[in-house]
Amino acid sequence: MKVSVFERMSALATKHGAVNLGQGFPDFGWPPEILEAAAAALRNGSNQYPPSRGLAELRAAVANHYSRHQSLALTAEEICVTSGATEALGASILATVAPGDEVILLTPAYDSYAPMVRRAGGTPAEVALRPPNWRVERQLIEAAVSPKTRAIIFNNPHNPTGRLFDLEELQTIADLAKQHDLVVISDEVWEHVVLGERHFTPLASLPGMAERVIKIGSAGKIFSLTGWKVGWIAASPDLAGVVARAHQFLTFSTAPNLQVAVAYGLTEGDAWLDPMRQRFARACNRMTEGLRAGGYEVLEAASTYFLCVDLDASGIAVSDEEFAIAAVEQAGVAVVPLSAFAEENACRHLVRLCFGKKDETIDAGVAAMLKAKEIFS
Ligand code: PMP
Ligand code: GLN
Repeated sequence: MKVSVFERMSALATKHGAVNLGQGFPDFGWPPEILEAAAAALRNGSNQYPPSRGLAELRAAVANHYSRHQSLALTAEEICVTSGATEALGASILATVAPGDEVILLTPAYDSYAPMVRRAGGTPAEVALRPPNWRVERQLIEAAVSPKTRAIIFNNPHNPTGRLFDLEELQTIADLAKQHDLVVISDEVWEHVVLGERHFTPLASLPGMAERVIKIGSAGKIFSLTGWKVGWIAASPDLAGVVARAHQFLTFSTAPNLQVAVAYGLTEGDAWLDPMRQRFARACNRMTEGLRAGGYEVLEAASTYFLCVDLDASGIAVSDEEFAIAAVEQAGVAVVPLSAFAEENACRHLVRLCFGKKDETIDAGVAAMLKAKEIFS
């Protein structure tokens, strides 16, 4: 397995003292109350192995949260807590993909999907989304389905493009999954990081999908605490059961004091969500305007902490990888080359920047991006 682009770019950012707009983590905005809840739980003795599937209070809190925010009718039996969404993805893939199976990925795709599918003995079948619109095209996915196809890994809102897929696109995924009897691993970690007035719809809410979707969530994204690594899957009792059995042998369980705090946050923290979205929307505008003023072509982002810059259209005639290395080594800013998320060529002129930062970080990052532009002009 190759070294993850996030590890590689963060190490280069540290080495060169660069502003880190590569790996996606916010440097502001987490609710202090949730930190207190975690500290109190730790002092109150929540420190031994919790049940493998997660503390009952967190499983109930996740189910209730989705019932309030997304009208999903889930019970605690349909939730399994994992150590971040990364483990949820690994457990879901190990639970559903057998040697010889094919798994459809829409690229650019989050970097853990393809290596984990391969390790499970499966073969990724990549379907390329095309910039700048990144639309899900029914014919392209249909053409990638074979008798061996077992699952689709779908990611909405989408990292790295910042796209929020519309209802027609969700319906396409749902129709194909039902028609070909596929499981959909639906990575919805960015469900609350949706900018402006846009509305997120979970795939499992479409007719006939509750029994075939494994929905993945992450407290790291909901509370801007990415290092906590508390995630979960939500699925029908049968599917949740097989994922929970894979999870037993990956991590078995997840830090109980953090589970107590996340249960508190999901139950009491609804009022934190809108201000968070507004902060990220402001940050996105600030970075977009700064980059555009400096002559960069920026693709529109509707969700996540990420925006993409089109190097070609910005007059920079080098690959994303070459630009990223020069930017971190010579201009003082780390970005992520989009080719890290796809094996084919469609993304070689794009880099991803994390805008989920304080004003001064954004301004320093934009200034360094302008310096990077000069290197290639
Ligand atoms: N899936 C996607 C699409 C992500 O963007 C991320 C993290 N940025 C993850 C999974 C991993 O989440 P976690 O940190 O909870 O493991
Ligand atoms: N998901 C984060 C991103 O997309 C990084 C997570 C990680 O470092 N594995 O940037």
